[in-house]
Amino acid sequence: MSDAKFTPRVFSGIQPSGGLTLGNYLGAMKRFVDMQNAGTHECIYCMVDLHAITVWQDPADLTRNTRELCAGFIAAGIDPENSILFNQSQVPEHAQLGWIFNCVARMGWMGRMTQWKDKAGKNAEAASLGLFAYPALMAADILIYHATHVPVGEDQKQHLELTRDIAAKFNHDFGTDFFPITEPVIEGAATRVMNLQDGTKKMSKSDPSDRTRINMTDSADEIAKKIRKAKTDPDPLPETVEGLEARPEARNLVNIWAALADTTVEDVVAQNASKLFGYFKQDLADLAVEKLAPIPSEMARLMQDQAEIDRILGRGAERAREIAAPILARTYDIVGMVRS
Ligand code: ATP
Ligand code: MG
Repeated sequence: MSDAKFTPRVFSGIQPSGGLTLGNYLGAMKRFVDMQNAGTHECIYCMVDLHAITVWQDPADLTRNTRELCAGFIAAGIDPENSILFNQSQVPEHAQLGWIFNCVARMGWMGRMTQWKDKAGKNAEAASLGLFAYPALMAADILIYHATHVPVGEDQKQHLELTRDIAAKFNHDFGTDFFPITEPVIEGAATRVMNLQDGTKKMSKSDPSDRTRINMTDSADEIAKKIRKAKTDPDPLPETVEGLEARPEARNLVNIWAALADTTVEDVVAQNASKLFGYFKQDLADLAVEKLAPIPSEMARLMQDQAEIDRILGRGAERAREIAAPILARTYDIVGMVRS
């Protein structure tokens, strides 16, 4: 339950850890644009570079990926005059509140995070300390703005629950109601876009195999080819949504269609009942190309003016700090830090 005393405010972030995927677009960015355009919330969107470096990033790639992600946000419809758009490291209050939250969150909570288990894998001893602490910094990203709503994909649900736990424990430990209990917003047909070659894994920008995902910068030919080659079972499309149960790859392509076309899964199944997957994939590829193609060309245009991108990020960071700095100062007061 978000408290009425907090301004309705949206925060969300994307890591500049490689190109944007269709999963990031449908699960996150497209919905960020919808929330901005709804006009009901102040919207703050962040390129979370401090999260990206929890696994190795080549410095030159990180710089380019951050600028490219900024171009992606704008090409997808984020208006940097309306929403606040910036990269995390330019607003030091994220890391400062992150430290406080490292001291609020418990080791046991962090050890239960499935993203930690997935990303650290069998070799957890060699993972960075930052990868383990990632969700405490994510809680800080959200709570440094007293954000009330966070649109994310399904994979981030557990981190949002942890954010609520951290806010509640801070409030309890210090006898305050300073931090809001943030609402996750996990909505739409494609909250979990799956890997095109394995319908049990999510599509991810950091997967080593490029065939598993559609990148926002893929050409029309590449998009069509990847969809055509996406794994499916031999059966045609079902006549009802129930018929998609236990068919993860089929379900995934139907979800993608529904999200791209801004319609429901029921509608897509009704339109395509009993269709062979060969034909369905051809139509899906056409739809994907139609919806996605304008974004990479606009990104490429924006990338030609790097100085303008850096100016936008700098201006966004200034606006973000106007909100974050007083919240950090108040947090330090609550904790009992001396500020001279
Ligand atoms: P990485 O593999 O580096 O973690 P990622 O593709 O998971 O990259 P993130 O930057 O971690 O991307 O996530 C950005 C946003 O995109 C989050 O809101 C996340 O929930 C959403 N997201 C990521 N992958 C998917 C997916 N396959 N389907 C729907 N949403 C997704
Ligand atoms: Mg991720």
